Amino acid sequence: MQSAMRGVAVTFIFSVFAMAQARPFLGPDVQQIYQRLLPQIEKIPAFDHHAHPGFADDPDVDAMAAPPNYSEPVRSREDNPELAVAAKALFGYPYPDLSPEHEKWLLDKKNELKKQLKGTEYFDSILDKINTESSVANRAMMPDYLDAKRFPWVFFADSFMWPFNNEREAARNPDEGVYIPLQEKMLHRWMQQENVSKLPADFGVYLNFISRVLEDNSKRGGIAMKFEVAYFRPTTFSDPSQAQAQDIYARYIGGGIPTEKEYRTFQDFIFRYLVSEGGRLHLPVHIHTAVGIGDYFNLSQSNIMNLESVLRDPRYASTIFVMIHGGYPLEREAIWLAAMKNVYLDSSFGELAQYPSAFKDTLKMWLETFPDKITFGTDAFPYNDVLGAEESYWLGAQSSRMALAAALAEMISEGEITEARALELAHAYLHDTAVKLYNGRVH
Ligand SMILES: [Zn+2]
Repeated sequence: MQSAMRGVAVTFIFSVFAMAQARPFLGPDVQQIYQRLLPQIEKIPAFDHHAHPGFADDPDVDAMAAPPNYSEPVRSREDNPELAVAAKALFGYPYPDLSPEHEKWLLDKKNELKKQLKGTEYFDSILDKINTESSVANRAMMPDYLDAKRFPWVFFADSFMWPFNNEREAARNPDEGVYIPLQEKMLHRWMQQENVSKLPADFGVYLNFISRVLEDNSKRGGIAMKFEVAYFRPTTFSDPSQAQAQDIYARYIGGGIPTEKEYRTFQDFIFRYLVSEGGRLHLPVHIHTAVGIGDYFNLSQSNIMNLESVLRDPRYASTIFVMIHGGYPLEREAIWLAAMKNVYLDSSFGELAQYPSAFKDTLKMWLETFPDKITFGTDAFPYNDVLGAEESYWLGAQSSRMALAAALAEMISEGEITEARALELAHAYLHDTAVKLYNGRVH
């Protein structure tokens, strides 16, 4: 009986594959399929799962700031000619480069538009031009010039891990000298928000304060919490008891510098506390998982695989995790973390760090593994007045749509999927998969 059943199953599978057996080479039709898919993909309204919208002079665009004098990879540099193409598409910029004498045209044009498009209209118009329905605003605080309906807030949760004397933390290297004081500032802003003038002596009260910030941020429109902890310390998290964390808190909240080991142990507990609160409060947890800016960013200590002990911990099964930047350049390993039902990958930054031909291969590999667990994002950011969030939105969205069309065209040409299935996958990646994570709070 059993072997007969198996025989039926084998015949069935064989016949399915005989109709559509995947081939190892692209067919001659791949370009045509791409040309057919691209306009359809451009028509899909997108949900941008990770970006930092805002003006260059707005200090709340991020909870940290760019470190001094760091090395930019070539495509992120100001002389990338694609940026002039972005400015042309968005603002009708007439020059092929962004030389200082031509830049003035763009600055004037943007200023004129900002005067015409009042309040939230300016940034809404940018989303309209790139066919993005709404975009996450991963920012320290929200400004009045972003429409909260189209720019849902993702706030930062790292600062609760730095409540003690941070002299040694800030002295580690010049980058930390910029970052750590900004974490202290962020913690103070949460204290102000909750009318707390001094951190409590009691650890239980401190944990209640953290939960109150999360609850209030959720009420104020926050849809998720974000960690950029990889910029500040290794992402290996041990599993200390509350008693251990409480003991360290009691000894240092009034002053004194904890040893590095003590500080890490305390932070490991707080990180896990925040992660479980994310489950209780339905606040997905976004974590920066990729290379980062700054020459002191430590790649091996921030390897996405360091997070495996947290992601695969059944205690956090009700917390949704979004691996921001998909672990780049370890995106091949990263996709296997999405085997966990509650783990998702965001592709932002990958589409800017790589050119579309390489990013296409990333997307294709992800689409061939866990296509229902990957989401689109741009990591748009206002680098300066000339190269604004506007241009980086355009370049990120444009690169992602091209790479997506190319990846799907290859999969169709190789006999892996039908065109109808390709369009379903495109909708899921560009919009539907991410939107479903927020229980109707975003569109
Ligand atoms: Zn970012």
